Amino acid sequence: MKFVGAHVSASGGVFNAPINAHNIGAKGFALFTKNQRQWKAKPLENSVIDKFHQNMEKFGFKPESVLPHDSYLINLGHPEDEGRTKSLNAFIDEVERCKLLGLDRLNFHPGSHLKKISEEESLNLVVDSLNRTLDQTSGVSLVIENTAGQGSNLGYRLEHLAHIIDGVEDKSRIGVCIDTCHFFSSGYDIRTEESYEKSMSEFDRVVGFKYLMGMHINDSKAKLGSRVDRHHSLGEGELGLETFKMIMRDPRIDNIPLILETIDDSIWREEIELLLSFEN
Ligand code: ZN
Ligand code: MN
Ligand code: MN
Repeated sequence: MKFVGAHVSASGGVFNAPINAHNIGAKGFALFTKNQRQWKAKPLENSVIDKFHQNMEKFGFKPESVLPHDSYLINLGHPEDEGRTKSLNAFIDEVERCKLLGLDRLNFHPGSHLKKISEEESLNLVVDSLNRTLDQTSGVSLVIENTAGQGSNLGYRLEHLAHIIDGVEDKSRIGVCIDTCHFFSSGYDIRTEESYEKSMSEFDRVVGFKYLMGMHINDSKAKLGSRVDRHHSLGEGELGLETFKMIMRDPRIDNIPLILETIDDSIWREEIELLLSFEN
């Protein structure tokens, strides 16, 4: 079973996300549990939490089919104490929101060194932020997303993800999310059976499929190794449909959310249907 879905809108309240997911035929979904472009959010009210639970149940979504995404403002590897502390507090708040919603994982981007410190120093700050978060929270796994490596973003090498996991004390609450667009544009080819197998076994060797807790399913406008983050609709970009067929038939990728972040949300229903048709 693959929980194919999309990053749906939660506007008007988080309880709208399962409705929006159901309306496009999704088996899973991603959402922001607060406005992703603001630092502060008002606490989730009990009535909102109750309605979220009701809609999850009504449309048959389980926690393991949902991959909440944190705010784009958060930088756990921020070179300056002030920026990092602000990020850490916002991140802990997001983990707590997920817990209140009965969700079991939170997807985040590792962070950026902002050209002020080395990659390794920044990665070590990410590790420290994660250990603090894990100490102060419970029940929610932290899911590191690989990145395209634009600008000073960390996470464009599998070794970055492995370095973070290595430093995390409670490995039962750490996971990873592979974004296919980011994977390809950061230099991992997955277009043919041969290149797919090579890149996926590298993933298994360096990180390990046991940590895979979600994927972002995007085609890429940018070329292999360009380190440019530009998503495209499935089959319209550099990857092509073959990649997504291989993913849908890969048993190592079962039972996790597979989330579209493709550019045209008016065709998400068709894209989900297409992916599901590849399954057998
Ligand atoms: Zn992301
Ligand atoms: Mn992504
Ligand atoms: Mn992206």
